[in-house]
Amino acid sequence: MSEKRDLWVPAVLGLAGIGLFVLNLAEGSVWAGVVALVLGLGGAIACLPIRLKRGQRRLVGFGLGIALMLVPTVPGASAHAATTAAWVILGLAFAFPLSGLTQSVRAVLLGGAGLFAILGLLAAVGILPKTLVWLFLAGAFHLAAQVFNARPRAEPEPPPGPRVCLMGGSFDPFHHGHRLLAEAALRVVDRLLVVPAGQAPHKREDAAREPTPFHHRVAMARLGVERLPRTEVLELEGRRSGPSYTVDTLDVIRRSYPQGTRFLLLVGADMYQDLPNWKDWERILDSVTLLVAARPGWDLDVPPEFESRNVPMERLETPLVDVSSTGIRADVHAGKALGDRVSPAVQAYLRDHELYLEDTP
Ligand code: ATP
Repeated sequence: MSEKRDLWVPAVLGLAGIGLFVLNLAEGSVWAGVVALVLGLGGAIACLPIRLKRGQRRLVGFGLGIALMLVPTVPGASAHAATTAAWVILGLAFAFPLSGLTQSVRAVLLGGAGLFAILGLLAAVGILPKTLVWLFLAGAFHLAAQVFNARPRAEPEPPPGPRVCLMGGSFDPFHHGHRLLAEAALRVVDRLLVVPAGQAPHKREDAAREPTPFHHRVAMARLGVERLPRTEVLELEGRRSGPSYTVDTLDVIRRSYPQGTRFLLLVGADMYQDLPNWKDWERILDSVTLLVAARPGWDLDVPPEFESRNVPMERLETPLVDVSSTGIRADVHAGKALGDRVSPAVQAYLRDHELYLEDTP
C-alpha cells in the first residue's frame, strides 16, 4: 500500500470517531459519544504511518493508555465497577505493553483472549451477567493487544546436551593408537563409548582370517582403556547376529540417552575415507558429528561423496602413530617384540591366551 493510501485509514477512523461523537451528543448520550471519539481517534493514531522511535512510541502508548483509564471519570460515564474496570484493563494494554514474548507465552495469552471473548459472548446473550460483557471484552482486547504489540522473542535455547562419542573398531587387539585416540577424545567429549565390532562389515570378506572371538577383543579393549575416566566398553554388537552396522548401533545407543544428547563418531583417517561405503552412511551423518583423527598413510581429503553435503566434522588432534592391529598380529605370529604398541596388560592377555600365535595376519 502506498503512503498516500495508508493515510486514508487513520483519516476515516478519526472522522468516524468525531462524527459518531457529534451524533451521540446531538442525541444526548454523552457517554456513547466519548466512547466513539476515544476509539476513533485512538485507532487513527495507531494506524498513522509514522515511524516513531522506541521511546516515543512508548510515550504515545502510555498517554493513550492513561486517557483510556480516565474515561470512567468523564461526567455521565457509567459508574458501574465492571465498566470502570474494563476501561482500566483496556488502558493498561497501551500504557504497559509487554516487551518480548516467547511463542509459548504468546499462545497462552491468545488462548486467554479467546476464552475472554467467549465469556463476553455468553454475557452478551444473557447466560452470564450482562454487566460483565465489557469486562470480558476488555480482557480479550488487552491480551490480544499485548500479543500483537510485543515483538516475538526466541524461546530460550535448551542447554546443550552432553557430547557422547562412539569409537568403534575390531580392536583385534586394542593398541597404543586406539589408546591415544581415546585420550584425545576425552579432552573434547563428555563420555566415550568403545564399541568392539561383533562382525566388522568391512572386514567380512577377509576370508583368510576369522576375527578373534568377541569376548577376547572386549577383554582387551577393557584392559586398553584402563584408568580412563568417563569411558565404557559396550558389548552390544556381540549380542547381534550378522554384520555389525554402525547405523544400527547408533540407533540402539541413542535410545538410552536423553533428548538433546549430541553424538560424535570417532574415526581414524582410513575409516573416514571408507565411510561412504558404510551401510546408510547418509543417515549416520544426519545424526552424528564426525571426530576425525589423522593416521599415517591416509589423507584427510574430503571423500567425493561428501562434497555435495554439509558433513558435520571436527578434527581430533592426536600424535601420529604408525601402529595397526594387523602389524601387531603379524609381529606376535613372527615372535617379534611389541614394545609399547600395546599396554603391558594387553600384552599379558595376549600371552595368557596365546592369541595370534597360530594366526594368519
Ligand atoms: P586392523 O589393522 O585390523 O585394520 P586397526 O589398527 O585399523 O585394525 P581398528 O580396530 O580397525 O584398528 O580401528 C578402530 C578405529 O581406530 C578406526 O577408526 C581406525 O581408523 C582407528 N585407528 C586405529 N589405529 C589408528 C592409528 N594408528 N591412528 C589413528 N587412528 C587409528
